[in-house]
Amino acid sequence: SPKGDAAGCRPVPLTVLSGPSGVGKGTVVAELSRRVPRLWVSVSVTTRAPRPGEIDGRTYRFVDDTEFARMVAAGEFLEYARYGEHWYGTPRRPVEERVAAGIPVLLEIDLQGARQVRAALPDAFAVFLAPPSWAELRRRLIGRGTEDDADVRARLKRAEVEMAAAGEFDAVVVNTSVEQACQELITLLRLDGCPHEQP
Ligand code: 5GP
Repeated sequence: SPKGDAAGCRPVPLTVLSGPSGVGKGTVVAELSRRVPRLWVSVSVTTRAPRPGEIDGRTYRFVDDTEFARMVAAGEFLEYARYGEHWYGTPRRPVEERVAAGIPVLLEIDLQGARQVRAALPDAFAVFLAPPSWAELRRRLIGRGTEDDADVRARLKRAEVEMAAAGEFDAVVVNTSVEQACQELITLLRLDGCPHEQP
């Protein structure tokens, strides 16, 4: 059962959501955020270029290598990792402030980041979002059309490594549909006021 059960029906304070590229993390998180406005989703910093439609400060804060290196040196990241050709990191302060204020926090980060957060904060609850099948993951990653062929191949290769690590997580949610995955997360993270809890 989720960590912090002694806290009764309070939401899980800090959740890490990981899973292979293309599994639908972004879509699930957007829907979860829409359904549960009190959940705060961390905005990562990255050195990659924005995809069409991505707005600076919303999905990511987009910075150059120099600014990223400055933030690393200044200890401003809770965790950071290189993914493909680029750097990604979670700013520490905003997370610590929300957790201290009792606001449930969600980090959508890769496997390396998930491991760093769990090492630093053993109470963090880690969820792995898995695709219904390999074929479906390939279809989603290629169908997205936001990466070139080489990048898709690199992400699929990395997906094999990430899938093999699913057992390290506190829970695995299979993303069969956005609605179902979202509902499972709401229950796991106790964002529903725990209507079914036994006395
Ligand atoms: P994308 O380029 O597709 O937006 O993200 C690539 C990968 O980086 C995804 O697996 C995503 O979860 C991960 N990621 C995004 N933000 C962070 C972060 O702040 N830290 C880490 N470690 N990974 C991140």
